[in-house]
Amino acid sequence: MTTAVRAPAFTEPDRPKGLLIRFVTTSGSYVDVTGHGEHAQDNRWNCLGCGDTSRSPEQSYLFNIRPDANDHATACRAIPLT
Ligand SMILES: [Zn+2]
Repeated sequence: MTTAVRAPAFTEPDRPKGLLIRFVTTSGSYVDVTGHGEHAQDNRWNCLGCGDTSRSPEQSYLFNIRPDANDHATACRAIPLT
């Protein structure tokens, strides 16, 4: 069994201001987590593949946003259209 990490299929876009984490998706796109970090409640995620974003809540502490963003990156199969 191989444990090799799949290389992104697309060029990594510029990193926006406030980027905390960037997950690569199943199809090689990215899910960005932005905000003010661990102790702030304004962290959110958005997917550069399908355009989905964090909801329920839209913004929260990083410990809430991080696993949702990672789960989306694992499930999302959209490729960037740019
Ligand atoms: Zn997505």
